[in-house]
Amino acid sequence: MRRANETSIFTEMTELAHRTGAVNLGQGVPDLDSPPELLAGVAEAVLAGRNQYPPAAGHPTLRAAVADHQRRHWGIELDPTAQVLVTTGATEALASAVLALTGPGDEIVAFDPCYDAYPADARLSGATLVPVPLTVDGDGFALDADALRAALTPRTRLLVLNSPHNPTGKLFTPDELTLIAELCVERDLTVLTDEVYEHLVYDGARHVPIATLPGMAERTLTVSSAGKTFSVTGWKVGWISGPAELVTAVASVKQWLTYASGTPYQEAIAAALGTVDTWAAGLRTTLTEGRDLLAAGLTEAGLRPLRADAGYFLQADVRPWGFTEGLALCRRLPELAGVVAIPTSAFQQGVDTMPWLVRFSFCRRHDALREAVTRVTAAF
Ligand code: PMP
Ligand code: GLN
Repeated sequence: MRRANETSIFTEMTELAHRTGAVNLGQGVPDLDSPPELLAGVAEAVLAGRNQYPPAAGHPTLRAAVADHQRRHWGIELDPTAQVLVTTGATEALASAVLALTGPGDEIVAFDPCYDAYPADARLSGATLVPVPLTVDGDGFALDADALRAALTPRTRLLVLNSPHNPTGKLFTPDELTLIAELCVERDLTVLTDEVYEHLVYDGARHVPIATLPGMAERTLTVSSAGKTFSVTGWKVGWISGPAELVTAVASVKQWLTYASGTPYQEAIAAALGTVDTWAAGLRTTLTEGRDLLAAGLTEAGLRPLRADAGYFLQADVRPWGFTEGLALCRRLPELAGVVAIPTSAFQQGVDTMPWLVRFSFCRRHDALREAVTRVTAAF
């Protein structure tokens, strides 16, 4: 019997937050505004009766909007009919790609810590996930080139990249991306890149899709989602794009998982993607301020948060609070301080370096972040 794993850490910690009334800085679930015209667009489509299945590959307007977005933002040219597939969240895109491209005996290389869907998907496909630990370098995380080279074997079938990265908040640097790309070209590897936080990059830094590097477009499947960009994680609309033959393989799996999803959502997101630039600029400001507020508060409470270049999360070493294991702290944090966070070890695959790291989410309204800061400062 193939099994992923038991309850996800997000389910456990969100239940804990509900049960205890703690401020939830665990699961990356934003309570931020979404574009009003996007919300109105869904209501309009529903009331106009556009409530039946869209084409399995996605609503044509959304596939066209994704292709247009990739060209406008990143200079990536895609044929919306052959090279873009709409999925039920990035989650389904990732699972379908792993199931389509790997099986027993294959190895999937991923940087560790990593988003917990990747090892779960590997278990479902029967492939083995080979973790390549990121190292802490100063106040941030870095790629260990030797560890990456050592992880690649003749059985490596897929490399999973996630930049901006969950759970560390790392943006892979141009040099790191170049190294990864060169190794993938040299070894003729397919890359599955999860770019759901592509618009949430701070301090003037710039996201670089690995598909734009030399030799990569023909071997890269790129995943994103409306959930993060528009703070609508409950809508579960994502997409995957890349070479036609790879997208066709992914579509052949995806059609048997959900077939299709959410016509009204897809229509409204298609329209909103056209003006994402303006929207994302405001969201970045909110999230940068939230990140800084939380980092300052955790510092005040005695921790040393690491740098978060992007995304929803920042990492802190919790040893100053008297815990050598993040998991032990997170299980007691609601009772000690009325706050929920996620142990970074939940994203590690048998690599127990840095068990003292905890992931705090800052995709929350500033008053919730202030309340969390007040609570932890009082408790520690
Ligand atoms: N990838 C990463 C890195 C994530 O953090 C998340 C969390 N939502 C997902 C994928 C899943 O995205 P979706 O909700 O669109 O399925
Ligand atoms: N991506 C979210 C996080 O990392 C959670 C998604 C989920 O609950 N599966 O917190």
